[in-house]
Amino acid sequence: MELRKKLINKVLALNGLATLADPRSLLAQIAMGVKTHEQFRNLLMRVEPEKRPQCYYSLASRLSFEAKSLDTYIAEAKDEAVRLPEWDNETKQLRDPGWQAQQEACRRAVQKALRESEIGILELTCRKCTSAQTFRAVDKKAAWSKALTAGWSEETLEKAKRVLCPKCSSPRVN
Ligand SMILES: [Zn+2]
Repeated sequence: MELRKKLINKVLALNGLATLADPRSLLAQIAMGVKTHEQFRNLLMRVEPEKRPQCYYSLASRLSFEAKSLDTYIAEAKDEAVRLPEWDNETKQLRDPGWQAQQEACRRAVQKALRESEIGILELTCRKCTSAQTFRAVDKKAAWSKALTAGWSEETLEKAKRVLCPKCSSPRVN
């Protein structure tokens, strides 16, 4: 037996595990030691990627709980890795990508909210008396219909469109 195998067997024996000569018992013992999804995921992630499916299928059926799919564990591990802080060589500081991602998501949400609210903002200035009023709605069309309800109107004078406040609007003919 090669030295490497001998050493591994010694370590296994010291931990009360079966030897490499008895892989079935060894697998069963390893599986028994895995009590949670997290432990199983950590174990899978320590295995080289190309050997992961083999490890997964050998152990999954021997676990005391129902294993998630291998893809799920890999995705979870990636998620976790994203959350771990990294050392930033430029700033000489720990960089927390999770926090950055959160900031980024927050920034995007605010921008989206702003964009959406802008879409529905209608700032009207009366061409006659220059009184102004702002209407907000889900979109420009809805904002305009709010303005109409409030008594604003639009007229075309010398080919230019102009808006008139409720006071200056001529009575609408329906
Ligand atoms: Zn006016």
